[in-house]
Amino acid sequence: MKIRILKKQLKRRGLTINSLVHFWDEAQTELSNKRALHHEAPSAPSTHAYIYRSELDYISRCILDYKNIETGGQLFGYWTSEGSPVVVYAIGPGRNANHQVAFFNQDMDYLVTIGTILVRHYGLHHIGEWHSHHQLGLAHPSGHDASTMADTIRNKNLGRFLLCIGNCTEKESALNPFNFVQEYGYNYVKAQWRVYDIESPYRNLVDLELHDLLEHPKTPHARYNMTATPQTSGQAFTQDNHYWISKKENRLVLKNILDFLSSSPVNGICKVQMDENHHVHIFIKHDKAQEHIYFPKEFPLMAPISTRDGNEISDYTWDFNGDILKAFINYYKSFNHYDGR
Ligand SMILES: [Zn+2]
Repeated sequence: MKIRILKKQLKRRGLTINSLVHFWDEAQTELSNKRALHHEAPSAPSTHAYIYRSELDYISRCILDYKNIETGGQLFGYWTSEGSPVVVYAIGPGRNANHQVAFFNQDMDYLVTIGTILVRHYGLHHIGEWHSHHQLGLAHPSGHDASTMADTIRNKNLGRFLLCIGNCTEKESALNPFNFVQEYGYNYVKAQWRVYDIESPYRNLVDLELHDLLEHPKTPHARYNMTATPQTSGQAFTQDNHYWISKKENRLVLKNILDFLSSSPVNGICKVQMDENHHVHIFIKHDKAQEHIYFPKEFPLMAPISTRDGNEISDYTWDFNGDILKAFINYYKSFNHYDGR
């Protein structure tokens, strides 16, 4: 009905729907040409990130507090007119943060309490976050990190965000900045630090005024080597030296398993949890179902134990020949019927 009225009205003006579509296309082309001329196209992630020396020190001490598990926090500051982040004040983990081998979740009460004050009272912006891949041998965002970051930026319409990844050895830490821009999705840019070699004007002020609320690192002195590449050879660290992720290289395998589960064809939302025996559980939510994968004591000699929507899965293949990731991917595909991809 409405289309007919529209057609009638157009006809009176000597127009048709086709001519309207053509006009729209032309207008769009003109707009994009204009954008190109006036540099209005969405700008790519900045290749720089600014930070005050005091904040690098602070994060270094936080990283060195947890040399074998993940830790993290949030970054506050502002953006330059060129779209580079300026880190003015960093926080570390709250008391109830969840530190695990392959993931970190901030204490949300802590973040909300401190973050609100930093934004409302001190006029800073929540510009990014940081977490440490400790000695995992991964000095950049994991695939899971990148997709989580891109999704969060899109869902919350943040525009841009800074993710810093920390690493450490037994002696020193490193921190690398990665800039994300909404229009560029997962295509983040590894940025170069520009360090203001002074104490942030906010560090002492906020530390003093929020004295009763803040949690600070226990490590007394920052020690970093920003060019340090994390070592990948390793020694055992958990209580159960025989459990698979007590080997350092297998912690990287766990990361890769998570990357696989959160990317195509699975596209799952993954959560990792360690139980009281420090055994790994992965919870996956994707469009087809909710799954739970448990890695038993005997893994990888024995297959993982999985359930889908609460029902134990029995029609799987487990063919382990020394490559855990490969065996896992084939295992997962065998009961999800993904064809060879
Ligand atoms: Zn990560």
